[in-house]
Order: sequence, then structure tokens, then C-alpha cells
Amino acid sequence: MIIQKSSNPRISSFDPTSFSFGNTFIDHMIICEYNNGKWGDLQLVPYGPIGFTPAMMGVNYGQACFEGMKAYKDKDGKVFLFRPEKNAERINKSAKRLAIPEIPKEIFMEGLKTLVDIDRDWIPHGEGMSLYIRPLLFATEEALKARVSEKYLFAIVATPAKSYYAAPVSVKISDHYSRSANGGVGFAKAAGNYAASFYPTQLAIEEGYDQIIWTDDSTHEYFEESGTMNVFVRINDTIYTPKTSEKILDGVTRDSFLQLAKRRNLEVVVGDVKVSDVIAAQRNETLKEVWGVGTAVVTSIFEALGYNDEHLLLPKLSEEESFAAMLKKDLTDIQTNQAEDPFGWRVLVEEQVYDL
Ligand SMILES: *Cc1c(COP(=O)(O)O)cnc(C)c1O
Repeated sequence: MIIQKSSNPRISSFDPTSFSFGNTFIDHMIICEYNNGKWGDLQLVPYGPIGFTPAMMGVNYGQACFEGMKAYKDKDGKVFLFRPEKNAERINKSAKRLAIPEIPKEIFMEGLKTLVDIDRDWIPHGEGMSLYIRPLLFATEEALKARVSEKYLFAIVATPAKSYYAAPVSVKISDHYSRSANGGVGFAKAAGNYAASFYPTQLAIEEGYDQIIWTDDSTHEYFEESGTMNVFVRINDTIYTPKTSEKILDGVTRDSFLQLAKRRNLEVVVGDVKVSDVIAAQRNETLKEVWGVGTAVVTSIFEALGYNDEHLLLPKLSEEESFAAMLKKDLTDIQTNQAEDPFGWRVLVEEQVYDL
């Protein structure tokens, strides 16, 4: 691995109590180029722009996918990743579907751990604080030819993230637009999936909603996901979530919530979640909670559902009554080393001495 440290690091001017999430970047980034049928040297370099022209295939044809994951710092300054192998595996599932060459797991993990280690001072500590890490793969060949690119870049960039109180949101149940279809790319973290979701989301926002609950593309009768999160529904004391498929992304947070719910002996049903059943439950007051889960905010609690022209309110549960809040705490306590980790989910990022 080639390590080129920044000659003017910005860390000394970073204020962990006041920064802007998503556009404050740590001092370094990882890059690795694919050319002539193979991955080249893994490099750690100062964060900054990389040159390309508008003829780059990745921006013309959307051959690009990414991951989203976090590193956490505990009270003693130890740094942990959360289930990073899941992201290494998933980026390759996405890559395969987009005809992008797979990035070897060892390159992914070495790049990730080195970046997080060298820039560990950028990781804020405290309630809800973390480092949001974005590994990505995209086509870099300069050619206007609608075919698979011959060149790619694997990169990892990261931005400090803070807890922000996630206010309950209202979500519109989609009756027209779809996020994914059978045979499509819905299970992949394809950049284009996000592009395709922005316009319907804007329309929902104009109608007064914050987000969309995506339903199946053929009948709109089944819940699939919520925005860019997996979705959970609680009717009485049973939790329901759709099973993952080629249309539903296999979220690490979703999987963790399922395991944590089982550990608490909660009743969990993984299978079809019918819109009509959820609406009927809202009407007879057995619908207790609907929430989304994903790495970025962990849990987004819903206060209302938009269904056709109706605005259906959900009960306001206290922290003690809410399964969503309880499972969120179980998860974040493990992530931040405030609880035992019987699942082996935390991965310590060791401090290395680099021979520069
Ligand atoms: C990233 C993502 C999720 C959440 O996955 P996590 O691994 O839990 O962060 C859910 N749905 C979609 C469409 C996503 O892109």
C-alpha cells in the first residue's frame, strides 16, 4: 500500500462540536485504480479532487455503486467499525449486477482500516457521533461507447457525523412511482437508484410529506422500503418487515434489528407486508409503529402515513413504549462499545505505526 500523507492537514481547525455533516471531509482518502484487467496499488492520498472529463463513462452511463458505513469512538478513544465485512460483500453484489469488476475483500478492508486509523482524530466521540464512510466504485474510462468500461476507480471518502434529533416524519405510500422492479437493480446500492428516487420524493415533499414508502411496482399493494431505508411495521406487539429480494436492499441495520428483536424474544414476521393490512390496523388502532432503518440515522420514526388522499396519524409512543427506540438503543450501545457484543459485530481498528 502506498501512503502519501497530507502536507497541510486540516484536523487542527476541525471543531467536533460544530461542523457540517456531509461536506466536511477528513484529511485523506483511499484510491485504487482498475486497468488492463486488474486492480493496481492501493493508495492513501490527501483528500481532494481527481481529474476526469465529461466523457467519463461513469457519469454518462451510471456504472457506479457505493456503500455507507460508520466508525465509532468509545470513551477511551478506541475506534470500531460495525460489521464491515457486510459492506465488503455487498459492494461486490452491487458491482456484479452493474458489470463492474469486484474489489477484492482484502483491498476493501485494508483501505478502510488504514484510512480510519490514520484519520482517527477526525472521529467525534459522544452520543450519536461517528464517522460516516463512503466506499465507492465507478467507471472512469474516457469513451462515449455504451458498453462496459475498461477502467474503474475504487475510492473511500469519509465525513464526521453527529447525532441530530431525528424528528418523526410523515411518509407517503407510493401509488404510482417505483424504486425497483423484478429483474432490476433494486437490491444493489447503485448510484442510479438514488437519482431515480429524487423526483418522486420531491413530489411527495410538495404534497407535505417528508419521504416515500415504496411499494411493489406491479400492484402497489405491498410495502418494500421507505426512502433509502428498510421498513418495519408493528401491529399490536408483532413486528413485520418485508423479506429481502432482488427488489429490496439487504440492509445491515435491518439484519441487526431482526437479530436484536429475536434476542428480546419479540415476535417477528419476515414476509409480505400488505398496504391494506397496515391501513386496516391503523383504522382499528392496532397499528403501533412504522419506522425505517439504515446506517445514516439508524431509525426514522413515522408520525403519519399518506394513503391515497388520506393523512393517517400514528400513535405517539414514549421512549419506553416504542420497540423502534428500544432496538435503536440496543444497536447503538453495541456500536459505541457501551454494551456487550454477543454477536461479534464490532471490529476494533488497531493503531498502526506506518513506515513512511
Ligand atoms: C443503503 C440502503 C439501505 C440501508 O442499508 P444499511 O446497510 O442498513 O445502511 C436500505 N435501502 C436502500 C435502498 C439503501 O440504499
